[in-house]
Amino acid sequence: MRKALFLDRDGVINIDHGYVSHIEDFEFVDGILDFIKEAQARGYLLVIVTNQSGIGRGYYTSEDFERLTAWMLEKMRQAGITIDREHVFHCPHDPDEGCDCRKPMPGMLIEAAKRFKIDLKNSWMIGDKPSDIEAGKRAGVGHTYLTEKNRKLEVDIIE
Ligand SMILES: [Mg+2]
Ligand SMILES: [Zn+2]
Repeated sequence: MRKALFLDRDGVINIDHGYVSHIEDFEFVDGILDFIKEAQARGYLLVIVTNQSGIGRGYYTSEDFERLTAWMLEKMRQAGITIDREHVFHCPHDPDEGCDCRKPMPGMLIEAAKRFKIDLKNSWMIGDKPSDIEAGKRAGVGHTYLTEKNRKLEVDIIE
């Protein structure tokens, strides 16, 4: 069992311009790469959990999302962060579909916990919306932190 850092994407990792789906619109939030690198050094498994209803709404495609994700992960690798595609969970559904993966539902976190044997109690969920925090709590994540959208993270992950 290992502890994980669950991160929302839009508004936490990148500036949330609304339905960010192309590389030219993807801007890392100030300081986030250093933060993630530090968390990894402290033994946290990195897991991204992101609602991508823009796919279900038809605003962009799964291919757009995959292309952007590959680019983002490569940028992270260049910054010294190890995170694979399998550590990125996304909900592609329209809210009307009533799926169990769209946050505040905990589906993505529970799936990740099962797959990677995550110690949820000692894990963190960081998001910029109450629905992120709610998803973390419903999944049983021990620590949650609501950050200000698009702003540098001011939380210190201890342990
Ligand atoms: Mg967000
Ligand atoms: Zn979903």
